[in-house]
Amino acid sequence: MHSDLWLEEKFEDFLGLKFKVEKVLFSGKSDFQTVDVVETKGHGKMLLNDGLVMVTERDEFAYHDMITHVPLFVHPAPKNVLIIGGGDGGTAREVLRHQSVEKCTMVEIDAMVVEACRQHIPQTAKDLDHEKLQLIIGDGVEFVKQTTEKFDVIIVDSTDPIGPAQPLFGEAFYQDVFNCLSADGIVVSQGESSWYAMEIQQSLLKVLNAVFPQSYLYSFSNLTYPGGLWSFTFASKQYHPVADFDATRVAASGLDFQYYNQALHSAAFALPNFVKKGLAGL
Ligand code: SAM
Repeated sequence: MHSDLWLEEKFEDFLGLKFKVEKVLFSGKSDFQTVDVVETKGHGKMLLNDGLVMVTERDEFAYHDMITHVPLFVHPAPKNVLIIGGGDGGTAREVLRHQSVEKCTMVEIDAMVVEACRQHIPQTAKDLDHEKLQLIIGDGVEFVKQTTEKFDVIIVDSTDPIGPAQPLFGEAFYQDVFNCLSADGIVVSQGESSWYAMEIQQSLLKVLNAVFPQSYLYSFSNLTYPGGLWSFTFASKQYHPVADFDATRVAASGLDFQYYNQALHSAAFALPNFVKKGLAGL
């Protein structure tokens, strides 16, 4: 049957991204946000929180490869990994491919996101029942405040800094993250768009600079987030993301990636001049 349904993601009051919808698979409202899963024409199944695109089957590999494999190939032996957010399961799926990982804890605040993805987007959610994964439905901010565990890598796979995700961009949170990282720990976080959200990137890097001896921004190309160019932050107690990256480990891992490779790992940290200028002197 022919569908004339389009959904439009509105960015502030000046941009709209439209996607052709074939079928609405799930629509709900949790205590935290609206959660929708739709089948689209050009991008496969898509998860939206509060009307904003989180994940699409077509390009999720770019985001999940780059948020995961960059820190996991810089840390020489990541055994204990924490994911905050990431309810669609794509980051957990990629973390669990690393042989060295003995345990992965994922703290997602919204059970509805997890259940909707389990049911409708197995491409990302397929490893949410993995034996090495401990899934906690709870607030990541509270978790890092209270845990006594030490993590080698923490991945903050969060929504934009609104609602429950707002504290995930603040200094108190990153002080707690610092405290629950091992002595050579790394934290990588969803770092927004250099085109449209430079002020969030500036503020996040300021926070990271205040807490960590090293912090950097790196970028990747995205298909369905406004602006195309998207970023993560990398902050660490010890390792430099490029100088301390042993590229031979990528081939030695035997893993095959759709986006990540050893050349791209280092290239991602080479920023366009407008970004370098925007982030200078923080
Ligand atoms: N790839 C996505 C993006 O950049 O748009 C992020 C994906 S993932 C679905 C983001 C998740 O972070 C959401 O499911 C949301 O519920 C979760 N989240 C937001 N604030 C949180 C918090 N304080 N603790 C744990 N999870 C949180």
